[in-house]
Amino acid sequence: AAACAGVAVLFVAIGVWFSWRPESEANDEFIAAIRNGEFIPYYQPVMDIESHRLRGCEVLMRWRRPNGMIVSPGQFMAYAENNGHIFDMTRHMMRVAAEEVGELYGDNPDLKLSINLFAGHFLDREIVSDIKAIFEKSNISYQQIVVEVTERHPLEDMDLARKIIAELQALGVRVALDDVGTGHGGMAYLQKLGVDIIKIDKMFIDTISSDDNSTTIVDSMVELADNLGMGIIAEGVEMEEQIERLLELGVTAAQGYFFAAPMPSGEFIEYAERTEAE
Ligand code: C2E
Ligand code: CA
Ligand code: CA
Ligand code: CA
Repeated sequence: AAACAGVAVLFVAIGVWFSWRPESEANDEFIAAIRNGEFIPYYQPVMDIESHRLRGCEVLMRWRRPNGMIVSPGQFMAYAENNGHIFDMTRHMMRVAAEEVGELYGDNPDLKLSINLFAGHFLDREIVSDIKAIFEKSNISYQQIVVEVTERHPLEDMDLARKIIAELQALGVRVALDDVGTGHGGMAYLQKLGVDIIKIDKMFIDTISSDDNSTTIVDSMVELADNLGMGIIAEGVEMEEQIERLLELGVTAAQGYFFAAPMPSGEFIEYAERTEAE
């Protein structure tokens, strides 16, 4: 608990320090951190909860400071998005991921790699050329890639978003709608965007074994996904009872601390070797 409090204090300190300094100085330093490759991928396993085998991972960005401290996206993502740095950062993160887990993915063609995109990525076709440039030559095939679009931020141009999604799907990339039920899009996004997978937000999973409303909501999401021919993944699973409820409701894929937290590539590759061997 003392360690947790220490980490929390550090995070707050970084946030305060960052917001107090003159804007341009903070920005120069952020750009230097991008150039130094300080924004790196962590990997959280996504599991098949029936077989307990690995299905793939979600790539989650971390800021590794030169002193070794690891900073979570809550501390820098809004800044990166508001200042347009997220495009360079995502490109770099995808490149590093292709290098770090390319061999693992080449050896295990069923594994999926999920990458978070930001609403701004759906205003510009550049994301399609980035994905092509990075993964064309990598051991990770387009069929192994999933891009996640969050419902938390509104998509400003739905027609363009739909086109970009269709271009990615034409390559073989799959598209997941993240944080379903918490944001702006709701049913409209499901209908208009043509997504392949829906991710059930942790908010519903937290109370799934105690609250009838959550159970009913997850149950209807499963039915919706089935009827629309979409896959479904539960996130934020921390307890055995939640796994049991999910299995009863017909959900077969999940991620969460119950299995593993996001981790650096070396640990993820070991994790994959352990779970593949089971
Ligand atoms: P998200 O996409 O919904 O990712 C899931 C978050 O839940 C991650 O937080 C993950 O570490 C955390 N999580 C997973 N399992 C559990 C669990 O069992 N319990 C709890 N309490 N938490 C769990 P993280 O890594 O701090 O990322 C936060 C958010 O930052 C992400 O939410 C996503 O919206 C954003 N983000 C992360 N990486 C990227 C990125 O590369 N690009 C963009 N655009 N956004 C990113
Ligand atoms: Ca496999
Ligand atoms: Ca996500
Ligand atoms: Ca999510």
